[in-house]
Amino acid sequence: MKTTIEAAKGLSPEAIPESAKAELARLAVAARERSHCPYSHTAVGAALLCADGTVYTGANIENAAFSPSVCAERVALFTAVHEGEREFLAIAVAGGEAGKPPKGIFPPCGVCRQVMAEFFRPDARVLLADGKGYAERTFADLLPDGFGPGFLL
Ligand SMILES: [Zn+2]
Repeated sequence: MKTTIEAAKGLSPEAIPESAKAELARLAVAARERSHCPYSHTAVGAALLCADGTVYTGANIENAAFSPSVCAERVALFTAVHEGEREFLAIAVAGGEAGKPPKGIFPPCGVCRQVMAEFFRPDARVLLADGKGYAERTFADLLPDGFGPGFLL
């Protein structure tokens, strides 16, 4: 799903208003409803804020063969990249048992952190939404000394 948060348009990650971050966290929680998780029964949602204020959401999509399953964060990020987006301010993530509100934070897995490293600035915000609010991290907090495009010639 695609929407816009006008209040975050053209800002740096540290300047995103609190109201925009709260909206991003709310969108991540809502995106869980689009999860396909018949195996883990764990619904995860993500809401990715682009530099132009566009928000792409994603949910985890599982597969009977397991390994083709994809996380909510990558659904949102790959959709945004496919649409031509390359600059990202923040991502919110929420997860937990399907059909129930989140019980706490649900941080991105290592694979998603590596995918984020391809596109995220170190100061991009990662909002770990718990259904009531969110814990705020920078991307550098989540992947210190991460491998990215800067290491290749
Ligand atoms: Zn993941």
